Amino acid sequence: MTKNYRDELVGVFGYPVDDNPTVVIQEAGFRALQLPYRYLTIEVKPGDLGRAMDGMRAMNMKGINITMPYKTEVLAYLDGVSNAAAVMGAVNTVYEKDGRYYGENTDGKGFLMALLQGSVPLEGKKAVLLGAGGAARAIAVELANAGAKEIVIVNRSAQRGQALASLLNEKTAAKAQYAAWDKTCAIPQDADIIVNCTSIGFGSDGLGKPDVDYDTLTNSMTVCDVIPNTPRTPFLEQAEKRGARTFDGLTMLINQGVLGFELWTGKEAPVQAMRLALEKEFGLV
Ligand code: NDP
Repeated sequence: MTKNYRDELVGVFGYPVDDNPTVVIQEAGFRALQLPYRYLTIEVKPGDLGRAMDGMRAMNMKGINITMPYKTEVLAYLDGVSNAAAVMGAVNTVYEKDGRYYGENTDGKGFLMALLQGSVPLEGKKAVLLGAGGAARAIAVELANAGAKEIVIVNRSAQRGQALASLLNEKTAAKAQYAAWDKTCAIPQDADIIVNCTSIGFGSDGLGKPDVDYDTLTNSMTVCDVIPNTPRTPFLEQAEKRGARTFDGLTMLINQGVLGFELWTGKEAPVQAMRLALEKEFGLV
């Protein structure tokens, strides 16, 4: 049999992109299944996304992750997008099928996957989201598509919060409302799912936690955090103390990696190997 020295290429386009850890997750998966795939972390300067997407096509890449600031701009360079990504107006994963390139958004799907794996009921439930940025938008749309009945968007900037509530009301079946975050946030007692979608707790802000009246969290609530590098954030610790069930951002990030891996390779992802690699990278094991 003749040898094949060719690799299938995937990766990420972003700016800045240096600190994106997805390469660690994907390469661990490729190694575990001995697949001839390579994940490249590629800096694409502002104004160059169109040429980068042409390059992706010219090199017959299997797909690409798209990160800040290109998640919306990339829509112009695709052959199609999933319904959820179209509603969000944002794509973070591009995959090739029969020579055409399609956009998906796994930001919210990774979150949803964790809840579904934990058998958390979503149909008819009320969710409270802290934050209204890209992560909040993706999670809110997925929760609405999964049957959540009511979604409250709590955000510091009213304009961003109202825009997300309007998007949900116009494009999904959920009933959404914006709540100002100008004082300590009391969680409504009929809320079922609470998600920190802000960047509080990330990076140098590692010990911070959202301005919430933690005594309003109860053991009937499911409380989630998007912060990926510290699975047990101060926010989740407070929720655990009140008996709430918790879901962390590390699992959400791994799930995103799993979804991308499967779209690109068509194979079932080796989840444990991918998770272990990221936990090692974050110094958690
Ligand atoms: P954005 O910049 O789009 O949004 C940030 C949000 O956080 C805004 O709503 C902002 O409010 C709010 N915020 C930031 N600081 C504060 C503060 N001190 N008090 C109150 N609100 C604050 O970021 P993204 O949505 O893209 O990302 C948010 C977080 O989600 C990041 O930490 C990112 O790492 C994480 N993430 C995790 C993923 C995972 O798989 N685990 C996937 C995607 C993101 P305002 O509008 O008022 O400025």
